[in-house]
Amino acid sequence: MNSSQTRKIPKINVHKAEKSPYILDQSKLTRFSSKNIIFERVTWNTSWKGYMQMYDENVLNIIKKGELGYSRVDFALAYSSWTVHDAFEGGFSRVKIKPYRASAATIGIDWTKTKYSVNDPLEMSKYVKQAATLFGASLTGICRLNRKWLYAEANVPRKFENVIVMAVEMNAPGIATSPAAPAAAATGIGYSKMAFTLSCVGEFIRNLGYEAIQCGNDTALSVPLAIDAGLGELGRNGLLITPEYGPRIRLCKILTDLPLEPDKPIKFGVKEFCKKCKLCAKYCRADAISMDDEPSFNVACLSNNPGALKWYVNAELCYLFWCENGIDCSTCVKVCPYNTVRTGKADVTPKEFWKV
Ligand code: SF4
Ligand code: SF4
Repeated sequence: MNSSQTRKIPKINVHKAEKSPYILDQSKLTRFSSKNIIFERVTWNTSWKGYMQMYDENVLNIIKKGELGYSRVDFALAYSSWTVHDAFEGGFSRVKIKPYRASAATIGIDWTKTKYSVNDPLEMSKYVKQAATLFGASLTGICRLNRKWLYAEANVPRKFENVIVMAVEMNAPGIATSPAAPAAAATGIGYSKMAFTLSCVGEFIRNLGYEAIQCGNDTALSVPLAIDAGLGELGRNGLLITPEYGPRIRLCKILTDLPLEPDKPIKFGVKEFCKKCKLCAKYCRADAISMDDEPSFNVACLSNNPGALKWYVNAELCYLFWCENGIDCSTCVKVCPYNTVRTGKADVTPKEFWKV
């Protein structure tokens, strides 16, 4: 069945909330160990089927099958999209990338070392958001750092009280080809853009005399931080659903000691809509997404962090499908009505995407 069919249109009325719209069981909630991220488990978890399976090892065999969206050109595009993310060392870092001004030894002063006096954190937040928009963030929110969302191994000093959470929109026609390779290009470009945006916003903060830890998926869980920062709500697919783009975004964040005013979380009925919708679960070729009517505290695999009431996604099954597919998948992004309500179209064929 074409995934553009049989979809209800969500009403998007956004309300500010006093606290984040998730329900936690504090007795089960612990800081998640980054060792249990599925990509980490590939390297150490000998008892799991995905141990040492990389999803590009099958690419040449897949190309031979000649399916649309899985040609050498499609894979060349998808793997090239990660170039900046993978090659730019300053993107995910807490230190200056490299000196791009005359050094203090030459001109006698490093003006960035003096601390800019922030009298009005709300005004500073507006500066930060405008800077983030200029540097490529599609959405920006601010929250206090809930240290429960830090990975167990993350050693972040207490002075990093604030988090700037940024969402980068992913290319809609690309995502709409999922699970074909152009969708993975849209994802990879999202990560590469994150490297650019993070490095520039981080440097903006350091130029004000404060510290910035630029993070992609590392250091802390992005989705709960994004919820705290008022960017959206959690969906059945385990992703942040934003009012503007649905789940068609990538998330990154900066932990900082710069004084800022936090945003309020938002509510717009995602959980209630997800209870009936289930499109992501229906179209997931890995059966990795729960079909249960109600969310629960029951985890699906070791790569889930227990303690939140939600639909847990089986990351093991998801990853194994990526291996079969030769590349990552975004079908649970593309079919989500919170995505298509804006784009108007869930499916784009690889031929339509390439316009050839
Ligand atoms: S990325 Fe693909 S395989 Fe993984 S949960 Fe989403 S739809 Fe399923
Ligand atoms: S596709 Fe999934 S995440 Fe999106 S609204 Fe439907 S159930 Fe929720």
